Amino acid sequence: MPIIFFFLLFFSVHSQEDTPIARFRRYLQFNTAHPNPNYADPISFLVSQANSIGLQSQTLELTPSKPVLLLTWPASDPSLHSVLFNSHLDSVPAEPSKWSHPPFAATLTPDGKIYARGAQDDKCIAMQYLEAIRNLKARGFIPLRTVHISYVPDEEIGGFDGSAKFVTSREFEDLNVGFVLDEGQASTGDEFRVFYADRSPWGLKIKASGAPGHGSRMYDNGAMENLMKSVEVITKFRESQFDVIKAGEAMNSEVVSVNPVYLKAGIPSPSGFVMNVQPSEAEAGFDLRLPPTVDPDLIKRRIAEEWGPARRNMTYEIIEKGPIRDYMGRPLMTVTNNSNPWWPVFKQAIEAVGGKLSRPEILASTTDARFMRERGIPTLGFSPMTNTPILLHDHNEFLKDTVYLRGIEVYESIISSLSSFKGKSH
Ligand SMILES: [Zn+2]
Repeated sequence: MPIIFFFLLFFSVHSQEDTPIARFRRYLQFNTAHPNPNYADPISFLVSQANSIGLQSQTLELTPSKPVLLLTWPASDPSLHSVLFNSHLDSVPAEPSKWSHPPFAATLTPDGKIYARGAQDDKCIAMQYLEAIRNLKARGFIPLRTVHISYVPDEEIGGFDGSAKFVTSREFEDLNVGFVLDEGQASTGDEFRVFYADRSPWGLKIKASGAPGHGSRMYDNGAMENLMKSVEVITKFRESQFDVIKAGEAMNSEVVSVNPVYLKAGIPSPSGFVMNVQPSEAEAGFDLRLPPTVDPDLIKRRIAEEWGPARRNMTYEIIEKGPIRDYMGRPLMTVTNNSNPWWPVFKQAIEAVGGKLSRPEILASTTDARFMRERGIPTLGFSPMTNTPILLHDHNEFLKDTVYLRGIEVYESIISSLSSFKGKSH
């Protein structure tokens, strides 16, 4: 009993302290989960943090009640391209009954794990940026290039009212951004992961129609038969992509994924479905993810000729969820060699604090980085978490205090290096 009491006292006292961990936990306690994210309170908190370390702040209301917070650390040479550090305010929902700790309590366990929805995705980087600047300022560091931090809404639901509008705003234009760091993902090993592209998501609906008929009749070109032929063709394509992964020749994110997500057919009846009528319509839906190395026009042709061909009485609809090429028509990829002047600066900044980067990757899913890349701005995805299980969107998402604190140190090096970069930036 006395031991438990001691722990309770110890943790309640600590949660009220003004330490980096206490501030991180306070930020995690705002419930910004969809479908009703609280954006106002975390923004007030971030503004008060920014004020306490002397950063400028402005809130942009590009969509009503979906604010973008922008913090700025002005440069000694404002004519140079600035650097932008982005994170999103929102998170996916959590099912509290499936968690060992309440998802918005930010419980710190005796072994140093901080449990919260958003601990990895991506509230850690949101606060690490600020802590790094706090420490750099305390050391008297003055940036040559302006440093901006943006906190955007709605990333988890596509970013269309968040980053997509932000990067096309007048205010964004005025920032004169030369390089962006956005969120990445945890690494289970000792090396930090870095992402130079996202896959582009497509929704594909294919519909077949044909003459209806008695369930007993065999005839050609029924809707179900035509749809099932397409499903077979798509399944074969899926296998060809999956085989490459299984053989270890590509990573998950480097192939085109296509996964069935719904099938819709049949004539409903009170007992389920009418069993003796072949229906005149049938439909299927697929989730597709295209790496930037793939030509989207080739996939479109494949869909038109093989997956939903008019010759089989089929129609299709492709729902493109976001950009796939930049304003110059180039794939949305950031160069990770020395022809991108920011790359060696970023890499050396990590090595300077004893860190190592693993081979740059394409992200299997999507982030707001695609909207910055669409503008032609080099953008990398990076979240400094090593030796950490990948728990984004999962139950019991947590981050260890030591990993979080190490991340602050990494950003001190990154922010000071990028903002001191004297070379030609494009
Ligand atoms: Zn995220």
